[in-house]
Amino acid sequence: MEACIMDGKTMRCGAVSGLTTVVNAVSVARLVMDKTPHIYLGFQGAEAFAREHVSPSNFALLIDYTQPIKQDEKSEVLAATGGSGDSQIGTVGCVAVDRDGNLATATSTGGLVNKMVGRIGDTPVIGAGTYANSYCAVSATGRGEAVIRATVARDVAALMEYKGLSLQEAAAYVVGERVPQGTAGLVAVSASGEVTMPFNTTGMFRACATEDGYTEIGIWPTEQE
Ligand code: ASP
Repeated sequence: MEACIMDGKTMRCGAVSGLTTVVNAVSVARLVMDKTPHIYLGFQGAEAFAREHVSPSNFALLIDYTQPIKQDEKSEVLAATGGSGDSQIGTVGCVAVDRDGNLATATSTGGLVNKMVGRIGDTPVIGAGTYANSYCAVSATGRGEAVIRATVARDVAALMEYKGLSLQEAAAYVVGERVPQGTAGLVAVSASGEVTMPFNTTGMFRACATEDGYTEIGIWPTEQE
């Protein structure tokens, strides 16, 4: 697993790669942000840090996949991985804005299926799969190599800051022009609460909810997309 979290108000962030036993990798990324002077821990170092800071008795945070899964735990694991136990849609991204316009984002993933051992994708790379500042919060998904090359999340923020584009315009440009077709999508929110969730793949699981009860859920492109 790998994950990243970023607070757009303070620009504080934390990231982890190469976790093999932690389910809620974002929680570990947050601990890296809150409890270390560093931003990014990987592999044995990240695992050791997680073991030190996350209680093993907390089943919600730790499942050791190297051990056989007990029968009563199996149903939870299968439900969490879409029924197959081997999810190919493992990336989860979240962006949020509060009433004062403070922005935050977090992304976690198991990475691409059949990736090489040691490969790191876009998710934990600040500015690629995950980025927040005072303009917007962005969480991207897709083919990590394409997302890293295009610094997708940071480009959305930069187009707003330097070119004065709206969130929707900036995100549409990045997904439409900066990455190859069929490789990427993102969810983003601006400080004023504008939301956009563009993708150039066949579909993207996505949802949005506001405090006043508005909800939106989608998989396939809508008419506007
Ligand atoms: N972006 C992830 C990666 O390349 C995969 C995904 O989004 O499904 O590791």
